[in-house]
Amino acid sequence: MRLVLLGPPGAGKGTLAALLKKSLGILHISTGDMLRDEIKHNTPVGHEAKKLIDNGNLVSDELITTLIKARLKELPSNNYMLDGYPRTLVQAEQLDEYLNDIHKPLDCAVYMEASLKKIIFRLSGRMVCRNCGMLYHRSTRPPLKTGVCNKCSGELYQREDDNEETIKTRMHIYQESTKPIVHYYESKGKLIRIDGDAESEDLEAQLLKKFNESKASNQPKDSR
Ligand code: AMP
Repeated sequence: MRLVLLGPPGAGKGTLAALLKKSLGILHISTGDMLRDEIKHNTPVGHEAKKLIDNGNLVSDELITTLIKARLKELPSNNYMLDGYPRTLVQAEQLDEYLNDIHKPLDCAVYMEASLKKIIFRLSGRMVCRNCGMLYHRSTRPPLKTGVCNKCSGELYQREDDNEETIKTRMHIYQESTKPIVHYYESKGKLIRIDGDAESEDLEAQLLKKFNESKASNQPKDSR
């Protein structure tokens, strides 16, 4: 299964992805994590990306598509979910072109729509493990020990782009550049909508139910 997770920053894509990774056993590819890794390792890509990310702007389509194609080529499996990519119509078209060329098209795009109130609440309380990337929230998903990851004991930090000013820029860019992708996948009959305001476990349940419904409706009648 190949899917993309769509939705505004703070819709809960990363948290849902962590749950789906377990329940569906598919890989989770986050372009934000890939870029933060490049920054951490001081690479030329990291240098190019850092200022843009810190200010809430997008890196270029060319850079991110080159990066994601290289990652997809080296994956051990063709079952994955993309989180944070595509983020522009150009990226969506580039992705389709690449996947069609290798005869492994996307199965669906999952769109998590969330209210601004929920988004701001989630982003302003979000904490991330510097070591393993596990996500926490100060009030709804706190770590057992303040500032320390439950899983690997890594240090928790607040992303630099999770501040009020940058959140506004990211939301604006989302509306302008990323939201049109929803219609792109809808027109191709690949869109699944779920309620991004729901808690992550509910979101996972909603989505698994929709997958099962679509599996059932695609089965020949006499095999049901
Ligand atoms: P995320 O972790 O998905 O919120 O991404 C963090 C930041 O990385 C974004 O605000 C962008 O600056 C950059 N980024 C991640 N994915 C993309 C993409 N597909 N296209 C352009 N910039 C991206």
